[in-house]
This record gives sequence, structure tokens and C-alpha cells, in this order.
Amino acid sequence: MLQNRLEPVLDPRALARELSNKLLIDGALVPAVTGRSFPVVNPATQEQIAVAAEGTAPDVDVAVQAARKAQKAWAKLAGRERGRLVQECGRLLNEHVEEIARLITLETGKAIRTESRVEAGVFADVLVFYGGLGSELKGESVPFKPGMLTITQREPIGVVGAIIPWNVPLLLMALKIAPALVAGNAVVVKSAEEAPLAVLRACQIMNQVLPPGILNILSGDGPGCGAPLVAHKGVGKVTFTGSVETGKLVYKMAADKLIPVTLELGGKSPMIVMGDADLDKAVEGAVIGMRFTRQGQSCTAASRIFVQDGIHDAFVAKLKAKVDAMKMGDPLDEATDIGTIISKQQFDKVKGYIKLGEETPGATALRCSAMPADAKLGRGYFVQPVIFTGVANDNRLCREEIFGPVTCILKFRDYEDAIRQANDSEYGLAATIWTRDLKTALDATQRLEAGLVQVNQNLVVQANMSYGGVKSSGLGKEASLESMLEHFTQKKTIILNLA
Ligand code: ADP
Repeated sequence: MLQNRLEPVLDPRALARELSNKLLIDGALVPAVTGRSFPVVNPATQEQIAVAAEGTAPDVDVAVQAARKAQKAWAKLAGRERGRLVQECGRLLNEHVEEIARLITLETGKAIRTESRVEAGVFADVLVFYGGLGSELKGESVPFKPGMLTITQREPIGVVGAIIPWNVPLLLMALKIAPALVAGNAVVVKSAEEAPLAVLRACQIMNQVLPPGILNILSGDGPGCGAPLVAHKGVGKVTFTGSVETGKLVYKMAADKLIPVTLELGGKSPMIVMGDADLDKAVEGAVIGMRFTRQGQSCTAASRIFVQDGIHDAFVAKLKAKVDAMKMGDPLDEATDIGTIISKQQFDKVKGYIKLGEETPGATALRCSAMPADAKLGRGYFVQPVIFTGVANDNRLCREEIFGPVTCILKFRDYEDAIRQANDSEYGLAATIWTRDLKTALDATQRLEAGLVQVNQNLVVQANMSYGGVKSSGLGKEASLESMLEHFTQKKTIILNLA
């Protein structure tokens, strides 16, 4: 447990410097064994704001050993007591929402009002939610034979390796560490190269409450730090959010050790708007669903919007007007709705897809909003949101995950056609249908191939609702009580002969 109570640091640049070159292992901030580091860049300006310690296999080993040692006593605490401590972390984090929001904005370019502050608040909320489930780690009693008591018991797995991406790093980390900890595991997190600071700060704050070694966090690159974490023989479970390709690599490495994995991968989520839908609500749903405020950097982004032909043109016009009214600008400015793309690499990738769309015969690109005028943002990775029309479902724009502010609106004739096209994708993370007809809505909920199907709304991940995809979108669920039980415990069957 860290001794001095941390005070919020509201200057994100000062905080970034303070967190420079640090891993958090066994309750202490330490540099990497090699002493190496890599730059952390503000994507709104390209200024270097910090260096992150470059964890490699020796750091992974020290962290896993510390976690293994600490987990033994942690597992012996009553589940409810572990939950109480995790809730305490959530309450403490609530006092740090503003500093964390500013820090995450600085390192990711996400707008503070529309994105970062919300994410920091949800992070704390997920800890409070899971903290309340400490007494729900129940097993079953099994009717077997007279004179025999047969029960199943849920036990922690041991050390969990958690690998997270950069788009919503705090939320995605919370969905992993909160259930893992409450279930009695210790965790070693590997943060994303692009966003190592806010998650480190959050773990530092939590370490004021948790015993040392229970929650460790490493920064470093995928092959150099993530891969040794998955491969470490002391890690008994891996939970991963990221790309399909890396997810498959992680799955293969885990197979070598025969350990369970949870994978939350990509998406190409369809949104079906029937001719009878409430048009204004559907348009609002497209703005939220496409995560324009997050520059479309979301696995559930509504990046394929199927609109019935009679209302297609009106829908496109209304959506364009809505996105036009959103302000791109300095992510730390309260007036800003839309910030920047995370990195040069993603910026080039997104631009590449936009070029591809523009070169597609018959396609129209509607550029929305306006680039920021502020000269100091001239080097920022800003991309104007683009709505494409006239693109077919077999175009790469509709097949591949762009992870940028680019959506395609496709016309359809009838419901059957819409369902067929919506399901014609390698992904199956989320889907929505917009209609006033109950029969159509119910039918669609049964036929859409996705882990999360919503009717007339496009909500983001909610605590206590299982979240996770089918097909190439992943394996397993997150965010609920069941996901904690299924993914962070193992079952033991116990038979007592009392005869
Ligand atoms: P993205 O394209 O969003 O960066 P990745 O799947 O490459 O998605 O990254 C998600 C997370 O997986 C990051 O923390 C990254 O460092 C990590 N990662 C990348 N490659 C590997 C690997 N070979 N083994 C384990 N983790 C990896």
C-alpha cells in the first residue's frame, strides 16, 4: 500500500512528467530493468509529453512473481472484503476524475468534455459495481446420493495477464481488473504503447488501497512486453482487447500453455434503419453509435448504416447536418466535441481508407464539420468525419475495421435484404435496428449475428450487461456478474461422503 495519500494533479503536463519512465510493480513505481523508455506524444500537437518505461521480459517476470506472491493472501480474504477494497478504489478514483480526464486527453487527443471525463467517471463506476459483487462468487449444490454432500466452488485462477488497447484504455482496463480482483486474482496489466499514462495513474491511485503486488502495470510494446506476459508460466489467464490479428496470436500463445483467454476484438457493426423508424431518433443514434466524438475509434462503431430507400436521402442530410454542427478542436477545450486520431500510424491508415472510398466508382464522400482553425493545432492528427454513400457492402470500406470517423450509408429495398447484408460480415460485435414495428424488431433481435443487439437505441457498454462478440469479434463476455464468474474463476467439484 502506498503510504502518502495522492493529491489530484490538475496540470496534465506536470503529471505526465511525474509518471515518466515508470512501471508499477509490487506497489512501487520503478523504471524498466533495461532503463529503456519510449516517447509519449500528444496527438493534437505532436509535442512529446513524457517517456514511458519500456517493460520487457525481465520486468514481466518480476511483476508476475510479485503478483503470485501477493495473490495467496488476497485469495484468502473474504470475497466481500475484496469487493469492499475494490469499491474503496472506485470511491478514491472519483476524487481524481478531473486529473485523469485531463491526462487521458493529453495523451490520446480525445475531447475532454465529450469523452475523457465520461470515461474517467465510468472507470470509477465499474469498480464500484464489481466491488458490490464480492459475495456473489457462489457455487452450486448438486443432488448426487443420500449421505453425500456434493458442491461446486468457485476459486480464483491466480495471476491474470490483462492486455489493453488505447481507444478507451481506462474503461477497458476496468472491465478486466475489477472482476479479476474481486474474484481473488492478482493482475499484471500491459498498457497500450500510445496511452500508457492515465492507466498508470489510475493503478497508482488504486495501490493506495490494495495490498502491494495485487495490481501491477507495465508499459512496453506488444512483442517485447505483451507476448512475454502471455507466455509467462506464472500467468494462468489472459484477457485481451485489441485487433483480430493480435488476438489470434495471443490465443495461439495461450494454447501452448493451455490457459483460458477472453478476447474482445474488432467489429463492423451494422445499424438498420427501417422506413417507419423515428428519423430524428435514428440520426441521433447514428451519431452516438458511430462514436463521432471519439473520432470513430470504437470497436462497436456503427460503421455500416443500412437505410431503407424511401428515407435514405433525408437520413443522410440530417446526419450530415448533425455532424456538421459538431466542433473539432483542442481536445482540452470544453467547447470541443471531436478531438484527434491517436497516432500518425492510425492517421495514415484512416486517410488511406478515405482515399479508397473517394476513388470508388459511384461513391460520394460527404466531409463533415470543419478542421480546427487554431494554428497551434496545425500538426495535430485531425480528420474530418466522412459519410460515404454509394458504397457496396463488399467494398473494403464495409468489410474492414477502419477505426476512424468514417461511416458508410447503404440503401436497401426490403427487410430481408437488410438482414442479409448486415450479417454478411466476418464480425459480430454489435448491431441495432430502428423501427416502430414490434414484429420486425423482435425478428431482427433473433436473426442479427452479434453479441449485442439493440432496438431503437445505441447505448455503449453498461455495467451488468454482458458485452462481447461472436464470429471474429471475439471470445467471451465482459462487464457482468456472469462474465466475472465464467472468466475469472475456476470451478472445483467437491464430494463429501457423510455416510
Ligand atoms: P491496435 O491496432 O489497436 O494497436 P493491437 O492488437 O496491435 O491493436 O494492440 C492491442 C494491445 O495488444 C496493445 O497493448 C499491444 O501492445 C498489444 N500487443 C501487440 N502485439 C502483441 C503480441 N504479439 N503479444 C501480446 N500483446 C500484443
